[in-house]
Amino acid sequence: MQLYNTLSAKEREALIEEAGLERLTISFYQYARIGNPSIFRNHLFIHWNELDVLGRIYVAHEGINAQLSVPAVNFKSFKAHLDSITFLENVRLNIAIEQDNKSFLKLKVKVREKIVADGLNDASFDVTNKGIHVDAKKFNELIEDSDTILVDMRNHYESEIGHFKNAITPDVDTFRDSLDIIEKDLADHKEDKKLVMYCTGGIRCEKASAYYKHKGFKNVYQLEGGIIEYTRQVNNLNLENKFLGKNFVFDHRRGERITDDVIAHCHQCGNPCDNHVNCANEACHLLFIQCDACAEAMNQCCSVECKDIHELPYEEQKRLRKGKVVSNKIFKKGRSEVLKYKK
Ligand SMILES: [Zn+2]
Ligand SMILES: [Zn+2]
Repeated sequence: MQLYNTLSAKEREALIEEAGLERLTISFYQYARIGNPSIFRNHLFIHWNELDVLGRIYVAHEGINAQLSVPAVNFKSFKAHLDSITFLENVRLNIAIEQDNKSFLKLKVKVREKIVADGLNDASFDVTNKGIHVDAKKFNELIEDSDTILVDMRNHYESEIGHFKNAITPDVDTFRDSLDIIEKDLADHKEDKKLVMYCTGGIRCEKASAYYKHKGFKNVYQLEGGIIEYTRQVNNLNLENKFLGKNFVFDHRRGERITDDVIAHCHQCGNPCDNHVNCANEACHLLFIQCDACAEAMNQCCSVECKDIHELPYEEQKRLRKGKVVSNKIFKKGRSEVLKYKK
């Protein structure tokens, strides 16, 4: 029985191109009690692999967090399989605004301690005592209210390319950092203001809202389904879209355009730009914003040093990389001394 990927990303890419079939990029999450995450993980892998589903899925005792690419022709079977799992029946599926057949090239289902690396000790507060979930219409009303404080629960590289008007966008690398900063900044308004929060697809707010209630905030609201579901609703119901720019996403697309506003700048020349790239030097892989002109001039690298390495023969690059840890991949997203225009 096949329980893991057998194809490389390159082989998969070729297969997807050859098939020429439309794929849907979908995400969903559900907090639920899962007794044996490993068995559940294998169950998902076997069924989804059969349906040619790709993506990155985290399974834990506390639930599931999934980002997927599903062939459109298999969507019905995929949905039927989800509905056959008690706690996933009719789970809200966030369907990407901009589709890309290559958003994911492997099926990776991983068992983790938690479905979001939030750094919280869940035993220290009641995680089920969440904020009030609001839809796009109610959210639009709330954020016009002068008693509202609107907070973006995402990290700096996400809010940099797009966020709601008048939102507080903490300059943080991790979710845990933003929780503390926001609590400190808003300490005087725990009772008199409405704390309204949002994130990409809603999952981070599930814990954050409960955490803030535990910390004494009286009026806590969260955007149901995050920016993805908000955008779907404003489009369907013809509501005013109060988001500006792009929604950062965690797949090959890196971002999906919500409005035409370009609110960020190329980190190398300062010109208006909101395209995230990863430095082409594999030993660096820094995530940063780069315009087309700089991409050409720098051979898609973040620095002259990386460009020099990237242009060496591949075997030589591999020799240089040996034994070194690529810390940028995890911790240093979009921060580097070499990027002149990164705040
Ligand atoms: Zn540039
Ligand atoms: Zn680099």
